[in-house]
Amino acid sequence: MADRFYPNVMPDFVAENPAAEQVVEEEHSIPQQGTHESLLKLLSTPYHTLSEKFKRAALDVKETVLVETWGLTRQQVSDFTLYCGTLGTAFLLFKAYQVTKNTNGLAVCSQIVKDCDAASRHSRDVTFLCGRAGVCALGAAVAKYMGDDQLVFYYVSQFKEIKLTKDLPDELLYGRAGYLWAFLFINKHIGRGTIPSTYSAAVINEIIKNGRKLGGRGRSPLMYEWYGEMYWGAAHGLAGIMYVLMDFELEPNDLDDVKETLKYMVKNRFPSGNYPASEEDRRMDALVHWCHGAPGIALTLVKAAEVFGDEEFLNAAVDAAEVVWNRGLLKRVGMCHGISGNAYVFLSLYRLTGNAEYLYRAKAFACFLLDRAHKLLMEGEMHGGDSPYSLFEGIAGMAYLFLDMTDPKNARFPAYE
Ligand SMILES: [Zn+2]
Repeated sequence: MADRFYPNVMPDFVAENPAAEQVVEEEHSIPQQGTHESLLKLLSTPYHTLSEKFKRAALDVKETVLVETWGLTRQQVSDFTLYCGTLGTAFLLFKAYQVTKNTNGLAVCSQIVKDCDAASRHSRDVTFLCGRAGVCALGAAVAKYMGDDQLVFYYVSQFKEIKLTKDLPDELLYGRAGYLWAFLFINKHIGRGTIPSTYSAAVINEIIKNGRKLGGRGRSPLMYEWYGEMYWGAAHGLAGIMYVLMDFELEPNDLDDVKETLKYMVKNRFPSGNYPASEEDRRMDALVHWCHGAPGIALTLVKAAEVFGDEEFLNAAVDAAEVVWNRGLLKRVGMCHGISGNAYVFLSLYRLTGNAEYLYRAKAFACFLLDRAHKLLMEGEMHGGDSPYSLFEGIAGMAYLFLDMTDPKNARFPAYE
């Protein structure tokens, strides 16, 4: 099991050392990359200098991602999704625009979304991460920042055309929660009420109704199924669905069920502070991913601590973060089940508590990647995944994290927080 992750031998804290900036200038004093010394040196680099390094590395990786997923395959979008496909590249470019304000990048981003629009027109998938709603939502937001009202109107109308079938699951990647996430994204970027609440209300009711059907009877009040299994994690299960529900104004008894569902999870977690992947699989304390396990659930618990002001959720998130620190330095780079995604647990707790220890831990995970991800991927020590340049499984996720590290107080796990 130890081969899932690297043992975390990074110190619990390294003080910043202004001298670390100066010696960088002298070639001979630069420790070899990928060594304990080079990592310690990065960790002691004053934050403003480190932040510049993150930004430069992010923009370099972004160029590589753009060439590999777009430049070389122009207009041939085989996978349009944000999760593993071309829309993920557009989302990274959108993030880079928010950091650099470079409008050229935004224009390229818009072109990519346009081709994803063509490629997804007949898709039956409706979510932000894996479906048509992601294309429409990102398309509308990008058009807004480009000042193209006609294009905003086009994507918003396209979003309104999306039909949700009866047999749709409720989870985040392919289900109702993922559709609602796109709804929230549009209303956040274009303006409250752009998509009226009539579009969300029925979907929320359906989610609650389905959850109650499978919940109760000594179990959590809400429970869901995806391909025959009752998952707990962010991607396919409770954590993802509860997160999205907390972003809406719910009826008091619905909100209460959300709260009790989260309490049920905390009560039935592993003694380590980690969480089972599903209701059925309560024995194996193995996965420490955003998709399954402590990381994705910790982000939901931080949100719950904000919404309910309940100490229990904050304490559980803190315990989950400890699991991530010890077992979350995964042998993968991406957002979904990699180091980049896991770093957001610390960023989220830093945002909530202001405790600098969490910023240090996020920095440590990001520095680990900055120092050696390239080398480990080249040597095959780290898995590149099936989509090595994608946002959720590949290096685009790492670039996204690096961009967030330049403004850690405002960092948010993409397509989730
Ligand atoms: Zn995953």
